[in-house]
This record gives sequence, C-alpha cells and structure tokens, in this order.
Amino acid sequence: MKIHEYQAKELFRNAGVAVPNGIPAFTVDEAVEAAKKLQAGGAKGFVVKAQIHAGGRGKGGGVKIAKTLEEVKPLAEKILGMNLVTHQTGPEGKLVQRLFIEEATPPKTEMYLSLILDRDRSCVSILASAEGGMDIEELAEKSPEKILTLPVDPGLGWQAFHSRKLASFLGLTLDMKSPSRMFQQLHNFMDRLYAMFVEKDCSILEINPLALVGEGADEKLMALDGKINFDSNALARHPDIQKLQDPSEEDPAELEAAKWDLNFISLDGNIGCMVNGAGLAMSTMDIIQHYGGEPANFLDVGGGATAEKVTEAFKLITKDPKVKAIFVNIFGGIMKCDTIAEGVIAATKQVGLTLPLVVRLEGTNVEKGREMLANSGLKITPATSMDDGAKKVVAAMKEGN
Ligand code: GDP
Ligand code: MN
Repeated sequence: MKIHEYQAKELFRNAGVAVPNGIPAFTVDEAVEAAKKLQAGGAKGFVVKAQIHAGGRGKGGGVKIAKTLEEVKPLAEKILGMNLVTHQTGPEGKLVQRLFIEEATPPKTEMYLSLILDRDRSCVSILASAEGGMDIEELAEKSPEKILTLPVDPGLGWQAFHSRKLASFLGLTLDMKSPSRMFQQLHNFMDRLYAMFVEKDCSILEINPLALVGEGADEKLMALDGKINFDSNALARHPDIQKLQDPSEEDPAELEAAKWDLNFISLDGNIGCMVNGAGLAMSTMDIIQHYGGEPANFLDVGGGATAEKVTEAFKLITKDPKVKAIFVNIFGGIMKCDTIAEGVIAATKQVGLTLPLVVRLEGTNVEKGREMLANSGLKITPATSMDDGAKKVVAAMKEGN
C-alpha cells in the first residue's frame, strides 16, 4: 500500500527523523492558511507540492517554490486540480486533489537514500548516493559505482559502523568544521528511520532528495521528499497505517475486489478471466496471449470461494468496458465446479450478460457443474480443455470486435 508524501513525513517526524515544517491542504484557502501558519512559525518562503502517488512531480510542474506568501495562492490554484503527468503516472496523468505546503528549505546538497526489503539477502538494505535529486534508475544504469548498497543484519539492526560507512560514502564526514555533529545527525537519522521501517512493516522507503540545509551551526540533514510503501499483508497489525490509504489513488476495481478477498489486478487487454489458483491464472493469461489475445485482468477467486464471491468476481469483470469476451477456467479441487456454475449463472442473470462467455470446468463435481450451465438457458460456449477454451475465447473476442 502506498501513502502520500505528507503522510510519510508525518511518520518521519513522529519517529524523530528531520523533515521541514509542512501542512497538507485540500483547498486553495487551506493552502493559504497553511502558509500563514508556517510564516508565523518563521518560514520565509514556501514550497507548494502536489500530492499524488507518483514521483517525478518536480519535472512535471507539481512542485513550485513561492518566495512570498502572496505567491502561494496562484501556485495552489494552478497545481490543485491539475492533471499531473510524470514519467511514473503514464501519459494519462493523475488528478491532483491534495497539496502539501512546506517551509522552503533550499538544499545545499542533494543526496539519495532508500531502504528496501532485500529479498535476495533476506534483510533490509540501504541504497545511497551522493547524487540525489535525479532519477535513481538512470544513475544505476550509467554509474552504478555511485550507489552504495548496505545490507543490515536483521538480528543486529542499525549499528554505528553502518553510519560511518554511509557518512564516508556520502562525503558527510568531510565537513571538518563540525564532523562529529554531522555524523551524530546522520546516525540518529538512520537509526530512527531503520527502526521505523521495521516497526511499520514497510517494503520500500525512499528519500530523494536527502538534503543538507542551513548554514554553519544550523546545518541540518533533512528529508525533503518521502515515499513509503507498506507490505499490504501486514496491514492487519497497523490500523494507523491502514487509515492513511487514499481510495481516490487506488484502482476502483481492485478496491472492490479487496472487499471480497479476491486476488484481482486490472490489465490493459480485452479478455476478462476468472480462474482459481494463482498458477492457473498465470498460465491462462499466457495461453490467451499465445493465441493472439490480451487478458483484461488477473483474477484468482481462490480455493474456498462461495457462489456469492464468484458472483461478485463476475460482476467485477463485466464492469470493465474494455472487456469483449470472458473466459472462465476452473480446476475444481477444494473449489467445486457446481459452486462456480451457480455463481456464473447468478451473476450472468444479475448483470444481463451480452458478452461471449467461454467456460472450461474440470475436477470435483464437474458433471453437475456442466449440467447446470447447459440447463441454464444462457448462451455459454463450453470448452473441453484449457487450450480449447483459450482458442474459443480469442475467436469470440475477434468476432465481437
Ligand atoms: P519529486 O519530483 O516528485 O521527486 O518531488 P520532490 O519532493 O523531490 O521535489 C522536487 C525538487 O524540488 C527536489 O528534488 C528539490 O531539488 C527541489 N527543491 C528546491 N527547494 C526545495 C525546498 O525548499 N524544499 C523541497 N522539499 N524541495 C525543494
Ligand atoms: Mn523526490
């Protein structure tokens, strides 16, 4: 699950990780009020930042500096409600519905920092680079030596030697005027960030830029941007994090599917699929592609689905206007074929299905299931195998187009 930058920074702040002062705003008036409050707190300038679940906002025009309080309003008017296109949103862009107003803290140095769940090493690893602000994927391709990968032993957690390695790689100890103070800041920053990452079951945490701001004794290490993804399977133990989910940023079909505990992912093709078991779902998508079709979704109804759940799954598929034909491919093991047939018949009647429907059933209670479909009076094309079904549904889709 993803959250917004302002929510990530609130978590940073609560964990004792330094961030600039900032206030979220949902309207232009709130943005101006937020800037006034920040000014009363000593802010000289402001940053108006679009809040969407995608990076690259700066380049896309979603992050603007206001030198004075007067400049905040026109910038907020411009950014709020805009369709922000970045390299991460795709060409269709994303509607900006929230803003974050921050105290301007011009960075002297911009670095890159992230914490990732490193599955190869079975631990949390830190990625860092002295070259922040830019696209890390690009840097990884062009100059991989400029990125440090630092695995952290889960049993030991963050240690001072990690901070020393990191400080020296980032060149932070080179500040001879106050080397120990900067080192202490970095150590506190990392120690707290690492603890938060583990405690909150994060899967990715990215700070780009991690910046040095302020002069002399006021020099500070701060997170100027913040992105966090959480392990969705761990949300049950973090109701506070679950509350941060912004439904308007999620795919509505995937949200609906989550309510019914269905494994569903929207795709770009036009053949709707209903399958049980993740492996069968993957091979179904492959075989559709093999015969020249494109799946519209990945949908695994699971092993213990009820007829009601199957009905909801079917409704989800048919709600997608891209879908031109449907392929139901079920291997009845724990899931019984007659339960699937019952769900398919109920759903088809409820939604008044007009699309071609190909059904392949195999396994427990298959005869009963086939009989129910044959006697339902519905226009269903039965398939004798997965191969036969895939061919038939691709042909039906082509005829329909
Ligand atoms: P992103 O483009 O979506 O990654 O958004 P960022 O939060 O990283 O903002 C884009 C850029 O704004 C940063 O890389 C900074 O270089 C720049 N920037 C300049 N001044 C400031 C400032 O005072 N505060 C913040 N947050 N960013 C600033
Ligand atoms: Mn950034």
